[in-house]
Amino acid sequence: MTTTTAQLIDGKAIAKEVRSELRARVETLRANGVTPRLAAVLVGDDPASQVYVGTKERTAKKMGIDSEVIRKPATTTDAELRDLIAELNARRDLHGYIIQSPLPTGLDEAAMVELIDPAKDIDGFHPVNMGALTLGYPRMQPCTPAGIVELLVRSNVDTSGAEIVVLGRGNIVGRPISILLSLKGKHGDGTVTVCHSRTRNIEAHCKRADILILAMGRPEMITGDMVKPGATVIDVGVNRVDDPSTEKGYRLVGDAHFDSVAQVAGAITPVPGGVGPMTVAMLMANTVTAAERAE
Ligand code: NAP
Repeated sequence: MTTTTAQLIDGKAIAKEVRSELRARVETLRANGVTPRLAAVLVGDDPASQVYVGTKERTAKKMGIDSEVIRKPATTTDAELRDLIAELNARRDLHGYIIQSPLPTGLDEAAMVELIDPAKDIDGFHPVNMGALTLGYPRMQPCTPAGIVELLVRSNVDTSGAEIVVLGRGNIVGRPISILLSLKGKHGDGTVTVCHSRTRNIEAHCKRADILILAMGRPEMITGDMVKPGATVIDVGVNRVDDPSTEKGYRLVGDAHFDSVAQVAGAITPVPGGVGPMTVAMLMANTVTAAERAE
């Protein structure tokens, strides 16, 4: 039997806290006659995307945010999607929207994101928003990195001067979180190392990290012997592994081997129930911010 020594960073509870604070801002907007509204564009019938969009829609409704899902067939053309984006940019009643990734083959995701009005880009993926973040005055922050910062702040993990190692340099998580945590000032000031698939001796980097952020999508790759005692481990990875003992035939695991890492780390996020709920909460935060700015 394993013993867990690490403090569990409960993303579900922290996301609930964030949502309840946001609800007060939603109430103020509504009292002024403004209902924040978001939309999700879903092209094709990717099953995971349907689940993600459903979660976002349900969360929005519970918070008093209006939400709509715009479903388009997988045969949607480049021109049709461009027209839809122009229409959404022009709509006064809509404060923000996302184009759910992945788009069907043949549609250029990066080109479509560039067409979104940056003020309505609640995913925070538009180059203007990414550029502002890099320059140190974030506007619409990408949701998962913003959620990680909230988790650290609300768990009293000080990033100033900390050795922070980020595993993964993807545009959605690894790259932006490494920038956010190295920015000068509050909630930043970390000494950040970014590792990726070409990094030599990942273990040596991991072992000196006060804060270890795992964003690779490699099931249970990081084990307890690779972690500095007392470190904070934020596990962003969401991986399906076969498990015939479960009803679905699989279970979700992170990039950390939870049982062994939890015996060494000072604090750790679980998968599921860690970073995931924060991502959705931050999407709601961006929607409320967009509505406040627009009105
Ligand atoms: P991504 O864009 O594919 O990036 C993965 C990164 O991991 C790449 O930089 C890659 O290196 C690096 N990598 C892969 N294998 C590695 C290895 N063996 N050693 C070191 N680095 C390695 O993926 P992503 O979109 O950032 O997603 C990463 C994970 O986070 C996935 O499991 C995803 O499901 C999860 N995720 C969770 C949430 C959430 O809300 N919980 C949100 C977004 C993503 P190269 O650059 O060299 O290829």
